[in-house]
Amino acid sequence: MKKMISIIGSGYVGVVTGACLAKLGNKVILIDIDEEKVKLINSGVATINEKGLSELLKCGNIEASSDYRRVAESEVIILCVGTHSEEDNSVCLQHLINATEQVSRVLNDKNDYYVIIVKSTVPPGTTEELIIPILQRSGKKAGREFGVCMSPEFLSEGNAVYDFMHPARVIIGEYDTRSGDMCYGLFQDFDVPILRTDLKTAEMIKLASNAFLANKISFINEIGNICKVLGIATRDVARGMGFDNRIGSKFLNAGIGFGGSCLPKDLKMLIDKAREIGYEPKILEATWNLNEKQALKPVSLLEKYVTLKNATIGILGLAFKPGTDDIRGSRAIEIVQVLLKEGALVKAYDPMAMENFSRLFPSVEYVSGEEALNSDAALIITEWEEFENLNYSGKVIIDGRGISKAKEARIYETVC
Ligand code: NAD
Repeated sequence: MKKMISIIGSGYVGVVTGACLAKLGNKVILIDIDEEKVKLINSGVATINEKGLSELLKCGNIEASSDYRRVAESEVIILCVGTHSEEDNSVCLQHLINATEQVSRVLNDKNDYYVIIVKSTVPPGTTEELIIPILQRSGKKAGREFGVCMSPEFLSEGNAVYDFMHPARVIIGEYDTRSGDMCYGLFQDFDVPILRTDLKTAEMIKLASNAFLANKISFINEIGNICKVLGIATRDVARGMGFDNRIGSKFLNAGIGFGGSCLPKDLKMLIDKAREIGYEPKILEATWNLNEKQALKPVSLLEKYVTLKNATIGILGLAFKPGTDDIRGSRAIEIVQVLLKEGALVKAYDPMAMENFSRLFPSVEYVSGEEALNSDAALIITEWEEFENLNYSGKVIIDGRGISKAKEARIYETVC
């Protein structure tokens, strides 16, 4: 049976979750404190660059509001606010706390049973130890007046609508069976494994999955660093490994490491949780440390060929990965910061992310791909497919991502 659903937080996860659940026939209201976002969504404009999202927003079953009172209409409330990193990389749960408090206030007077689903990524124990106590302040009890689930999201930016509609699995962490049944009802038509667990297992599945992917990237980067010194082609090594389906070829692209708003944050969340319980997570820490070092490798390689002061450096790729305009945690940020600090002039190109990047770095010149290559040297930071169509001949290229065509450059070096 289709449901009335409120989604709290209309960012990448919220707007995609809401739009997809609306497409599946549910009535969805997206709640966000950002009035601008609310206006855009209500006029059918996708607030993020995701294939198919605009069409879904026009399906008629979805609207947005900044008025929390609208939550009272719903029987399912999904928390999708950000759990971003602080300056010291520790996780900040304040948005989630605020959102839960606001939801709780509105639902105080609701007589019908409802279920709250946490979809934001959180450290194990958060739903039980932080979210439920806030929801129970009103005197209502979890398992009696309302249900609670934790159902992590695994969508990948750039492919988010497809990923939501075709997940590899659905994880439902449930406070009790009644809560889990409500959540199961949303996903039961998906022809994929649906795993029902307790709340903190679901939280851990998300963190462990992202930590594993992060580890796979740092692993191949470590192999790549060794290969570079030995004169071995890392990409061929990775290909050779990837044919083994126990290993698989995904996440084996050696280079400048992982960025974005999820992998670094989720890995750090797990490291902090382990330390909090007195466990030293050596593999996770090594994954983190190697990734930190990998980020600025292109700049030190660049310095072999050009003096940075007053040099013009081209940057190909600003998004944290291809297919998105999201620059959160992008390796381009650290690299451009250093280049500007060293007195270089930066010309950058990205098919989607220049507008977002220009808000952080107005002094960078934003140009076409060809024009970015028309520099003293250029760095490849994001593996956009279209970079395989540029003309690199005569150029000095430091490649952080493995663009085959760039090997035609006069000087070509990979990070590892
Ligand atoms: P985001 O920053 O894009 O969106 C968060 C939204 O919440 C923003 O629109 C913000 O205005 C809104 N918000 C903040 N406080 C609010 C409040 N009190 N009430 C209502 N709205 C509020 O974040 P995101 O990338 O969508 O990530 C959300 C969560 O999902 C995070 O925990 C993240 O780790 C997780 N996640 C993200 C991805 C991804 O690819 N982005 C994938 C899986 C899981």
